[in-house]
This record gives sequence, C-alpha cells and structure tokens, in this order.
Amino acid sequence: KAELTPQEVEWLNQETISNFRNHVNPGFLEYRKSVTEQGQHAAIEWRASGPNTLIDTQGREYIDCLGGFGIFNVGHRHPTVVKAVERQLAKQPLHSQEMLDPLRALLAKLLADITPGDLQYCFFGNSGTEAVEAALKLAKAYQSPRGRSAFIATEGGFHGKSLGALSATSKPVFRQPFYPLVPGFSHVPFGDLAAMEARLKAHAEQGDPVAGVIVEPIQGEGGVIIPSDDYLPGLRRLCDEYGALLIFDEVQTGMGRTGKLFACQHSNTTPDILCLAKALGGGVMPVSATIASKKVFSVLFDNPFLHTTTFGGNPLACAAAIATINVMLEEDLASNSAEVGEYLLDGLKSLARQHPSLVAAVRGRGMLQAMEFHDNTLGYAFAKGMFDQGVLVAGTLINAKTIRVEPPLTLTRALVDKVLKRAKLVLD
Ligand code: PLP
Repeated sequence: KAELTPQEVEWLNQETISNFRNHVNPGFLEYRKSVTEQGQHAAIEWRASGPNTLIDTQGREYIDCLGGFGIFNVGHRHPTVVKAVERQLAKQPLHSQEMLDPLRALLAKLLADITPGDLQYCFFGNSGTEAVEAALKLAKAYQSPRGRSAFIATEGGFHGKSLGALSATSKPVFRQPFYPLVPGFSHVPFGDLAAMEARLKAHAEQGDPVAGVIVEPIQGEGGVIIPSDDYLPGLRRLCDEYGALLIFDEVQTGMGRTGKLFACQHSNTTPDILCLAKALGGGVMPVSATIASKKVFSVLFDNPFLHTTTFGGNPLACAAAIATINVMLEEDLASNSAEVGEYLLDGLKSLARQHPSLVAAVRGRGMLQAMEFHDNTLGYAFAKGMFDQGVLVAGTLINAKTIRVEPPLTLTRALVDKVLKRAKLVLD
C-alpha cells in the first residue's frame, strides 16, 4: 500500500497553494516544469464548504468565481447529484457502452426534451474534447458521401486539444507543434457573417464545399466574446444555403451558464449538432454529450461502430447528469444566472469605470463574464490579488488579457456584494 508521508503531503499542499497563486502568472509554467522534472504532482485538497465556497488545506475560505472552469453550475457537491451517484455506485458503477442501459436512455430523453428544435439523438463521452471530436466525425461521416470534407471555425475559438478538436481551436501556440493537423480546417473572424459567407462561397467555387461550421455561441476561452444578436441566425441561414452542417460547441456556454439553458436559445437558433460537457455532470462526474438531429445521427444508425468509446454514457455519469438536469430545472438556475449575473456584471462594470487605466472592458451574459485588462500583467496581478482576498478567478486560455468570472450559478446577491468589495480593494 503506497502512502505519502505527512511531510510529503504538507509539501504538496504548500506547493499547490503557491501553484494556484501563480496559476495566472507566467512563472507558473516554470514551476510546473520543475515539479514535473522531479516526477511529482502537486495536488490541493479543496473542500467544498457551500455551493459557492471552498476551503483550502489551511482552512482558508474562498468565494468560487471560477466554478472549476465552468463545471460547478449547480454549486459544489449538490446533495441531489452526490446522492444519485452514491446510489448508482452501490448498484453497478460501470459497464461498457455496448450494454443498453436505462439510465443512458433516460438521459438521452431528457436532453432531447431540454435542447432546442429537433436535436434528439445523443452520443455520450467523457469530456468536452470528446464531444467536439464526435461532432466533427459525425459531420464528416454525414457529409463525406456528399463530397464535403472542409470545416470552418472561428478565430479565438476554443474546442479542445485532441487532433480533431485542435484543428478547430485557433490559438497558434497550441497548434504549431502538431502541424500538419487534420486537413481542411480554416478560421474566419468570430462574429463576422460576411467573412463566413465569403469563405463558404470560396469553398463552393473551388469545388471543395464545406461539410461543417463549428462555433461557440459565445466565445469563452477567447475572452467571453458575445456576437451581435443576428450572428447565430445568420450562421444558420448561411449553412442552410451552402449545405454545411452547423455545430454549436456549448461545452462552456451550456447548462444555464449564460442565463438560458443553452446560449443558442438567446437567438432561437438550432444547430444540427450541439456539444455539451463540463457542467453536465454537476461537477461530480465527467460526462459529455454530442446531440444531433435524426437526419445527421442516422449515419450512426447505419453503422453504430463508426464511433464508440467504452466509458461513454456509463451509469455513474448518467446518474450524475440526470440529477444535474433535474436540479437545474427545479431550482431554475438559468434564471438565477441571468438575474444575479446581471447584478454582478453591473458591479464589475462600475468598478471598471472607476479604474479606466486598469480595466479596458467588462463583458458577460448570465454568469459567463470576463474583465479585460490593458495588459496581461495587470490581469495576473488582479487574479493574484483576488486569490489573496479569498476569491478564485483565473485567466482564459486564448485571450491573455482577460480574467474570467465564472461562478457556480447558485451565487447570491450577498456573495456578489462581498466579491465586489474585495475586487474594489484589489483594484484600489
Ligand atoms: N469546447 C469548449 C468551448 C471549451 O471551453 C472546452 C474547455 O474549456 C472544450 C471544448 C474542451 O473541453 P474539455 O477540457 O472537457 O476536454
């Protein structure tokens, strides 16, 4: 039985606290390298002390405005979700995807009910990346007999880092070591319908028509970029006109994050394929879903072995996701995200107005929010200051000047007041 000595545990805790302190700091990478070279992995035992608070190993409490990078939408350790998983654990924790399972069927049915339009069929996986990978493969399998293989994604978009997902992700430093990526992917500016149309048209004219367009309805890792209201409906129209499938990556925006269950519902736009993950498992289990219309999913009816994964839709993950969806609906967390989110956003905007030399912009919808600083160092300093004040925030993967504010949707006005007070202290 391998056990860490108390000294080793203490070392890990200390290192991890400083690791987190430096999380949004370039020094973090150096630190990570040295830890990896020593063959050690830092790990902090964060404990939930409430839906929106965490306690570190030293007993310090933090207000969570990071939400596990978007997984804790129903709050930390929601008792309904935890109980559902415990019940399932006591019965039959895991079996493979080939076993038909009533929980998986129930989850698929629930997702068909709550997603817009004719999105009715699901492929389950374990991460956002897998949800995107499945979406790209599904689109490719559907479009390949139609002579279509190209994909258009957007600049600033983030979709994961497996080879397919990375081909859609736009950040050069993530991509370059892996060139050539999957052929046929190109990027156009986000929010720009004219650029999308021009690219679709150019492909059609070159005899290489587009198979799919993949976008986040609101870019998360790109720095919380909200397109104009006509963008998603415009993409729907263009995809229909040019015969491309429309894929919405709602891995970060889904499950109430933006004030509606799905961000595409703000503009009543239904994609052909929708990707979900992160918050779907309630912050208790990893689970993802790639949800498609019958038309598109039919390629998997013909050959169900085209895309499979052993753990996809396992009973534990499904139990967590079913409970999470029920909690989201019963507690109407999407509405809380909209209402309390607006209160938080107003507060952050007012702080930004008081500090124009530091904060360049504050953006957000629901509880997907970001503060853009004039440069990276100011953002890092703010995040570190907030950590020291007992509030967790962090940077975004693509837009280095922005600090995300992404709390569990159970946030209250009283907690917002505390966050704003501490943010003011840091900025002042
Ligand atoms: N898609 C989007 C929009 C994301 O924000 C992320 C992760 O941040 C992913 C995909 C990848 O998800 P995962 O990290 O669960 O693989």
